[in-house]
Parts: sequence; C-alpha cells; structure tokens
Amino acid sequence: MRTASHRIAQLPAYAVQRVATIKRRLIAEGRDVIDLGAGDADLAPPAVAVEALTAAAHETRMSRYAFQVGHLPFREAAARHMERRFGVRVDPVTEVLPLIGSKDGLAHLPFAVLDPGDGCVIPEPGYSPYMGGAVLAGAEPVICPLRPDRGFLVELADLPADTLRRVRLAFLNYPNNPTAAIAPREYLDRTVAMCRERGITLAYDNPYCEITFDGYRAPSIFEIDGARDVAIEFHSLSKSFGMTGWRIGWAVARPELIAALVTVKQFIDTGPFLAIQQAAAATLDHSEAIVAGVCDVFRERRDAGVAALRDAGFSIEPPRATMYLWVPLPSDVPSGPFAERLLEEEYVAVLAGSSFGAGGEGFIRIALTVDGPRIAEGVTRMARVLSGVQGGV
Ligand code: PLP
Repeated sequence: MRTASHRIAQLPAYAVQRVATIKRRLIAEGRDVIDLGAGDADLAPPAVAVEALTAAAHETRMSRYAFQVGHLPFREAAARHMERRFGVRVDPVTEVLPLIGSKDGLAHLPFAVLDPGDGCVIPEPGYSPYMGGAVLAGAEPVICPLRPDRGFLVELADLPADTLRRVRLAFLNYPNNPTAAIAPREYLDRTVAMCRERGITLAYDNPYCEITFDGYRAPSIFEIDGARDVAIEFHSLSKSFGMTGWRIGWAVARPELIAALVTVKQFIDTGPFLAIQQAAAATLDHSEAIVAGVCDVFRERRDAGVAALRDAGFSIEPPRATMYLWVPLPSDVPSGPFAERLLEEEYVAVLAGSSFGAGGEGFIRIALTVDGPRIAEGVTRMARVLSGVQGGV
C-alpha cells in the first residue's frame, strides 16, 4: 500500500530536524555539544513579553479560539510598529494577519496564490518552507541560484522567458538566510517593477530586518514604490526578540492577498494563542529598545566568530545583518560530509550549505546562537576537522 503522497516524495530532507536527532543522542552520551545549527539563539525572551503572557494567561477570555481575526491589540501593535519603524501605514484589520510564526504564512501562501503547475521562484540556498509550500501546493519550483559573485541576489531577469512567463509567486528574503546578504535599494526597486510588470506576487520574507549592524538599516518592501500592488511581507518576533518557540509573527499585504491567505488558514489552524498575541503586542510597543540590546549581543558574537574564523585561515567578511555566518569551504571539501564529521567527531552542529539546496554547496552556515567564546571554541574544533580532512584550510 502506498502511504505517502507523490508530493511528499518530492520534498527534500529537512536538515535542522536531522541535526536535532543526532544532537539528542550525543547529549545522552555525555558529549559537550556546541549547537550552531538551527537559528535558535539562547536569548531570554523580553521581560515585558513574559509579564504580559503571565497576566494574559490568567484571563479566561484568552483561552478561547483566536480564529483568523486574532487579537485586535496585536494587529494594532504590528501596524504601529510598521509605521514607526518603516514609515509604512497599514490597516490593522484588513492588511495585517497574525501568524503562528512567519513560517506558517510562508508555507501556506502557495496554497493561496498558486494553482498546480504555476511557477514559484525559490532562492537556493534558501529557507526550506518556500520549497515545502510550493511542492505541497502542486506548483512548479523555479530554482534561482544565489551566487556570491552576484551578491546572493535573486535575478528574475536571468530566468528563461518561457519559465518567467509561468512564474506567479517569488520568494525573496533579505537580509538573507543563510548567506547573510542584504539587498541594495536599487535591486528592490527593479525587482518590484518586474513583479508588477509580470503579475508576480512577491513574498518578501523579512524576519531578520531588525538584526542589523554597523549603521545598516533594513527596509520593509513597502518602502519601495509600487510594492503595495504585488507584495506580501512576513515579519516575526522569533529572532529579534528571542521568542522562537512562542510561534508568533504577522503578514502585511493589501486586503485581497491577506484574505486569500486567511481563506487557506481557516481550514488549517485557528490562529496563535491569544495570550501570546497579547504578549507580542506589549513587546512590539517596546521594540526599538529591546532590539537594540539584541543587536549588541549578535554583533559581539559576529565579531567573535569572524575573528576566530580568520585566525583559523578562513576568508570571511563580517555580515551587516542576520545571526548567521556563511563560511566558504575549500573547494575539495563537500559541505554535507564535513558537517556530519564535525558533529560526530567534535560535537559541533552547523548546517551544511547543501542542506539549503544544491546551490548552497561549498559553504557551511554558522548560527550565532551561543556566546562569543563558545562560538570561537566551535570554530577551533571545526578547523581541527578540516585539517584532518585536507591538511589545512
Ligand atoms: N524566514 C526565514 C528566512 C527564516 O530563517 C526563518 C526561521 O529560521 C523564518 C522565516 C521563520 O521564522 P518563524 O516561523 O519562527 O517566525
């Protein structure tokens, strides 16, 4: 008997899941594991979030179904945040949608806007739910390689004309996971213009927009002229507020796009826990102060990681955003087996570039999830494995 669908058979392996399983075994064996794998830093959630959640949990009304309408104060806080932070005004009721983490919206979006056979642009290397959502919705994944010599930018104009004609949805993510690349304004202008011209919905995945350094400020796609016609933007409290496990984020788009996503989600989930929406609202109202502290932490870790990598002979520039280091490997070292050895022999979890799609080969991703000295120790162990593999970097 066939148990799983053909669509499931088309899905790639989900790397973070596999690392978690091996890590559990190593810890059970008493190993000193340094986990630089998943983008899940050791930060405490903001006190304001914890206090608001505790108070909300005592309110009986918070134990009801949220449904997709959610909690108006959260929608309103998200709208206020968009205006303060980006100068973008949105209607909290029709243009904001609470999500169970931004992953929820990203993975369900293809069901809302694509029909079987429609093309969906997937950056590679890239965040796996883009591919997951597209494949499960029966769409055609259109892989766009992110190349170092092109600034890791998705160039829609490079697609063959007949492929581009089929594209109805494009995922873009800057500041980028895993490459840590940022998008120049001119790039965003021409990409929005292309999407408008071609009738392509632009899914702008922006969970790292608050984690920026050295004076760089990441924009909202809605700062770009014409983006309101084509874009849906995804935001998250996960990374910038140390709240990954809380599962809370939001989408912003024109009412018709939000309504399409609501239509899908109403058959699948009943919205994030209301008490968490209440806590997220309280958090967003203090976003600037909280985020400043989080950026300081990640900057320190970035600098420690870059210094350790350079000491070990790797060539890497400090990224201006995200919580990741995208580290080039020597050309004769395949990333998958290297990451596997690093975990099994030296107990350091990183993600192989190839686990983000074949286009990620030649790199590994280090997540800045622990303090600087631990990251440096992880890099020392990494250099040891590398010299065992090929006699030095
Ligand atoms: N988008 C990107 C590029 C990510 O790296 C992640 C998490 O790793 C997410 C979205 C999802 O974040 P969450 O669902 O926790 O909001």
